[in-house]
Amino acid sequence: MTEAKRYDKVAERLRENEIRPAELLSEQEAAFARDVERLHQRSAEFVEVDCPACGSALRKNAFEKYGFTFLRCGSCATLYMSPRPSEEVMADYYRNSENYAYWAKHIFPASEDIRREKIHKPWLARVVAYCDQYCIERGTMVEIGPGFGTFSSLAIEQKVFKRVVAIEPTPELAEACRRRGMVVFEKRVEDLCNEVADADVVVAFEVIEHLFEPSRLLSSLYAVLRPGGLLVLSCPNGEGFDVAVLGPGSKAVDAEHVNLFNPASLGVLVRSCGFEVLEVNTPGRLDAEFVHDAIVKDEYNVSGQPFLQRVLVDEWERLGGDFQQFLAEHQLSSHMWLVARKQDQP
Ligand SMILES: [Zn+2]
Repeated sequence: MTEAKRYDKVAERLRENEIRPAELLSEQEAAFARDVERLHQRSAEFVEVDCPACGSALRKNAFEKYGFTFLRCGSCATLYMSPRPSEEVMADYYRNSENYAYWAKHIFPASEDIRREKIHKPWLARVVAYCDQYCIERGTMVEIGPGFGTFSSLAIEQKVFKRVVAIEPTPELAEACRRRGMVVFEKRVEDLCNEVADADVVVAFEVIEHLFEPSRLLSSLYAVLRPGGLLVLSCPNGEGFDVAVLGPGSKAVDAEHVNLFNPASLGVLVRSCGFEVLEVNTPGRLDAEFVHDAIVKDEYNVSGQPFLQRVLVDEWERLGGDFQQFLAEHQLSSHMWLVARKQDQP
């Protein structure tokens, strides 16, 4: 068992309300609804795409959510939005997002202490364990899309890397990172012009699912890393438990999540961009709780499924935690991590 995996076993149980305080959700949801409305106003600029993981044009309709259509690739099972907002529409969305401004101003500050302890500390321990396991020097670490900057500021505090660089295109979030004394490039990594090179480690948490053309991000990360450097990605798993059960009712299915890869399909994409995939795992901790909540709130009807009723409701306190642990250990959770190494030749 690797260091990182051993860490999972002792990870504390996480409750959704701790990281998304209920009293702040209604305003955030209203801001998000206005963002989605602005996206729809530009639907004439939406573009049809083939599978963002394997390029296949084979697909079936999966479902609709917020008025967007999601397809499932007939070759690699990636779920993806098509038609989707063009790259320009997406860039405008993130620049002017009321939702992100609200997160930066209210939700991140209110939940940061718990996020730092229960999410970012375990993430950092996991990244450090990967560096040690794969013999990667802890020189320069680059974080793509650091958001509020909690992970990178923790990495700076703990002095686990010699240098930490953040790349964040959303102005409010870049400013939040700068206030913490971080080196920030306020642009998308795809738009960098050699400002960052020879990084030992690049991390991108919950970024790749948002991108119009994820292979371009990976090519940019290839350029930022030194040969042999480590790439660490996290994103939703479109084949994970809560997506499989709730479908469009899953929080992973979102107007912003245009790519919902799975462990195999993300590997295909990453390999095609010049990386050797070292491992993929699903250390998620919230699937069971998401489905539990959906049942309790009558958003999901579990009648006719006595097993789910028993595990996720009737005996929730006794079984919920172990059930989630089982999902996490067997690549069945909806939150996944991929670790890869840059090869010499793309
Ligand atoms: Zn595919």
